[in-house]
Amino acid sequence: MDRILVIDDSSVQTGFLCSILKADDYELTTCHTAEEGLRAAKEGGWSLILLDVVMPGMDGFMLLQELKGAEVTRHVPVILITSLADAQYEERGLVLGAVDYVTKPFKPAIIKARVNTHIQLYRYQMQFMEQAMVDGLTGVANRRRYEEESEARWREAIRFGLPFSICMFDIDKFKAYNDTFGHQAGDKVIAAVAKTASSFFQRSTDLFARYGGEEFVAVFLGPQAESAFEFMKSIRQAVEDLHIQHNSPVCPWVTVSVGGVTITPRLGDNLDTYLKLADTMLYDAKRFGRNMVVWAGRSGEQWREK
Ligand code: GH3
Ligand code: MG
Ligand code: MG
Repeated sequence: MDRILVIDDSSVQTGFLCSILKADDYELTTCHTAEEGLRAAKEGGWSLILLDVVMPGMDGFMLLQELKGAEVTRHVPVILITSLADAQYEERGLVLGAVDYVTKPFKPAIIKARVNTHIQLYRYQMQFMEQAMVDGLTGVANRRRYEEESEARWREAIRFGLPFSICMFDIDKFKAYNDTFGHQAGDKVIAAVAKTASSFFQRSTDLFARYGGEEFVAVFLGPQAESAFEFMKSIRQAVEDLHIQHNSPVCPWVTVSVGGVTITPRLGDNLDTYLKLADTMLYDAKRFGRNMVVWAGRSGEQWREK
């Protein structure tokens, strides 16, 4: 159910708005100061904010500016509802990023219609943004999502002092697969590998993405290097166990090589350095014979299968 936040210092006004909108199956929450409204808004999960302009303390314009400046609330549509009928106020509200400006007194049917329209548009926008982050062939996160989320995971690891693992993996001798079985069959293999591998990454802090072509990247928090290495071995094995026929010199089945690193990052460390190190480990895995995991720790230790 869509959640609407109503911020107005007058409880008569919030009561009136709620009574109008309740019938449309929205979940409504009210706040009576801008400060309280800001706190509630930042908790996230809102589809729309109805905001009064004239309030004691922080006013609606100031709050609107805050909302448009914060990552969690920036996309949430805000409708200003106010007794300030002058066009200069309307202009100011719209320039600051409100999607609509309604002056009091208003007709309930008009508020309802505007709210419904903006909630519908917000749903489309969210759907569009979701789709822009998903890889079309495999349904897993795409590289753009990796770029957006990996930094957040990295900062989380720094803040909580958690071991951070990053790994790259790549299907072995895949050019040969395409040459033998065709590009379409190759696409199916990429999707099957993605499905198998992604099923191992179910925690909210896990991130698994198609990095490009037949290459994937994964980020996860918690396990120390050796456990992370064991974990990735089980994923590598699960891909082999799919028993997708491949006539490469590596193995009769489709396999992947995996390179990764676990570190407990500190302020000043750089994520990209470790992505590159993971890639170097992947290169080693290829060099040492493929269908294997090669893993690094912070101070140069290395774990290697076989
Ligand atoms: P290696 O074991 O060293 O990784 O060998 P490889 O043949 O897998 O590596 P290489 O990078 O030479 O070739 C990757 C191949 O992956 C070439 C390309 O045609 C294929 N490929 C990349 N993206 C796709 C895709 O979306 N679909 C299909 N079917 N093939 C793809
Ligand atoms: Mg490959
Ligand atoms: Mg490759």
